[in-house]
Amino acid sequence: PTAELQALDAAHHLHPFSANTALGKEGARVITRAKGVYLTDSEGEEILDAMAGLWCVNIGYGRDELAEVAARQMRELPYYNTFFKTTHVPAIALAAKLAELAPGDLNHVFFAAGGSEANDTNIRLVRTYWAEKGHPNKNIIISRHNAYHGSTVGSASLGGMAGMHAQGGIPIPNIHHINQPNWWAEGGDMTPEEFGLARARELEEAILELGEDRVAAFIAEPVQGAGGVIVAPDIYWPEIQRICDKYDILLIADEVICGFGRTGNWFGSQTMNIRPHIMTIAKGLSSGYAPIGGSIVNDEIAEVIGGTEFNHGYTYSGHPVAAAVALENLRIMEEEKIVEHVRDVAAPYLKQKWEALVEHPLVGEAKIVGMMASIALTPDKASRAKFASDPGTVGYICRDRCFANNLIMRHVGDRMIISPPLILTPADIDEMFVRIYKSLDEAQAEIIA
Ligand code: PLP
Repeated sequence: PTAELQALDAAHHLHPFSANTALGKEGARVITRAKGVYLTDSEGEEILDAMAGLWCVNIGYGRDELAEVAARQMRELPYYNTFFKTTHVPAIALAAKLAELAPGDLNHVFFAAGGSEANDTNIRLVRTYWAEKGHPNKNIIISRHNAYHGSTVGSASLGGMAGMHAQGGIPIPNIHHINQPNWWAEGGDMTPEEFGLARARELEEAILELGEDRVAAFIAEPVQGAGGVIVAPDIYWPEIQRICDKYDILLIADEVICGFGRTGNWFGSQTMNIRPHIMTIAKGLSSGYAPIGGSIVNDEIAEVIGGTEFNHGYTYSGHPVAAAVALENLRIMEEEKIVEHVRDVAAPYLKQKWEALVEHPLVGEAKIVGMMASIALTPDKASRAKFASDPGTVGYICRDRCFANNLIMRHVGDRMIISPPLILTPADIDEMFVRIYKSLDEAQAEIIA
């Protein structure tokens, strides 16, 4: 029974990113099954998952092929590592497939069990790279406030979430943060393009201040996800690319959310037309069916790192079951033309409906790239005002209304976001909008009351 499960959960299970005592009193919803874009809970309620879990179940739930591949691989070779002098077929095949899919000369993969580990790998990769090239002091990594790059000490330091930095002694040294290109919240009187340029130029200012010989890399998501689906003004990424090129700074694109079709191309870097030296991958790589991530690096980095013993690795780097599942996921994505489905069917239909949300009294801006989208909630669209209540309060209200209406949508402060499975059909989208409008209307009534 649900109540018993909730009591056990409250007694023994510490949930990530949760105030566990309060959650325990409320009782977490117990998810028991899932199929397509719908979850089922222990009470038999069907919930439309507009977040694809945590931005990851790109091909949707309930694909038997992945279960079968996992079972087969577990029988054949459930585990072996790729440290020292061994390798195995799933890791070889997946690395080769990723080299084929990744743009340019991003041809080499260092595996991890998820995005956090992969970003930790990146910190050590870029510092080792520059040290091997004779620049051991070129070890500062620039990132952005409000970014999320993971929860390990290293990746949380790369991230710029104030709430995370307030706990547990991060950031580690030699990580520097510049401002994000969030025009709605921070653009003031500037036009989006003026603001985008100013925010990109902060990278140049930081490099000049810290010293060109000290800055190793810049890391960012092509579209900032957990920070609120912040889509940079058009001018931003070309300017960032120019600055990285000019000062010989490695560009790390964190593709953990944007990768594997989310933005309408295989990678968000292609959508934003940037040329990263390293890409972080995870989530959609296996559609969340198995924990796997990695860093894809270019030929030159692989050659330089390969010249020394890179003293870094995880027990589960390239785990055979996870790698086999990821490979099957990519096979399905190609066979079923899921990236094309996003580009030609799902994203255009979603975009037209999403952008119409600005007509709702609570909604200021509506932003969308491919299948990731956000709305800003505001009491006054013209001035882009924030609600007077604590940041996030209105977001919480909306989020909880969605939850009660069997729709998983996330909130970040006063932004509401979605990142649904990529297989979403127009009929699913119609159903999603019935629930979105109902939830927004109810939230508005609650706020006014
Ligand atoms: N990078 C980005 C952009 C993410 O969104 C996340 C997770 O949400 C991570 C890294 C961390 O990945 P993981 O949770 O697999 O460690």
